[in-house]
Amino acid sequence: AKEFGRNSVQLYDTVFNERSMERLNLENDMRNALEKGEYQLYYQPQISIHTGRIVGAEALIRWNHPVRGMVPPDEFIPLAEDTGFIVEIGEWVLREACTQNKKWQDMGYPPFPVSVNLSVRQFLQQKLKEKVQGILEETGLDARYLVLEITESMTSDVDYATNCLLELKSLGLQISIDDFGKGYSSLSYLKKFPISTLKIDQSFVRDLMEDPNDAAIVSTIIAMAHHLKLKVIAEGVETEEQLKYLTQNKCNEVQGYLFSPPLPDHQFEQKLQEMIS
Ligand code: C2E
Ligand code: CA
Ligand code: CA
Ligand code: CA
Repeated sequence: AKEFGRNSVQLYDTVFNERSMERLNLENDMRNALEKGEYQLYYQPQISIHTGRIVGAEALIRWNHPVRGMVPPDEFIPLAEDTGFIVEIGEWVLREACTQNKKWQDMGYPPFPVSVNLSVRQFLQQKLKEKVQGILEETGLDARYLVLEITESMTSDVDYATNCLLELKSLGLQISIDDFGKGYSSLSYLKKFPISTLKIDQSFVRDLMEDPNDAAIVSTIIAMAHHLKLKVIAEGVETEEQLKYLTQNKCNEVQGYLFSPPLPDHQFEQKLQEMIS
């Protein structure tokens, strides 16, 4: 028994070390990836239910790892959050998305806003407003064509969040609440924050047709948003039935595989061309 105990400790140590090595490797790789240009933005179209046209794009990061292949954000964004490296990645994402959107405008496509996900760390970063302002000036993108997506988890300190959002808003950009309904935050902030859009969390959309509770939640969020004069986007729309329900309940915009997955910029461009031709 003694023997066994010692072995299991050793085994545990080995597993533990492998895990932390793995993390360490990933962390190193993540930092190098920025210099090596391994990150790439994909863009997912946001469609107006009313016109059926593309009225926006959400920028979603991908990591084109030389060995691992395409690494989805869920596999490295949390680690980047932990280490604080998300601030640097986030700045790259913002610059890249603004540059790309300006490029599309210069190519003559009808202008639309690009949405960028903001992380908690970025939101708490000092001089965020100056950072964003600098990137807008540098890239030449008109602030009204930039949307920053924040989540309810960033709103726990209501005073801080209100000030921060007002500062950002003063630049002329738009602010949207991502994954709405997923957090447990109070709704009172909705009347304080200078936000323009609610994005209904995809977990409610997923089972819309099977779960009457989800259907009730979705229609209630839409109605509430309209009362507050906010625009509503439903995420994760995959079926015609979901679209029909959202249309009947007067949702403004949809985003999801039914229309398109997130696409690399040149493929997104083809979607834009299809739309105007
Ligand atoms: P999110 O902001 O909620 O993004 C929506 C996610 O849903 C994306 O996953 C998108 O590809 C996926 N999706 C879109 N349509 C559908 C659909 O019809 N069905 C289903 N099942 N999924 C759909 P993705 O690209 O893997 O991103 C995951 C999360 O990683 C994002 O969730 C966001 O929280 C984070 N993330 C992505 N890019 C960035 C970034 O540049 N910065 C930060 N801070 N976070 C990011
Ligand atoms: Ca988002
Ligand atoms: Ca979301
Ligand atoms: Ca999410």
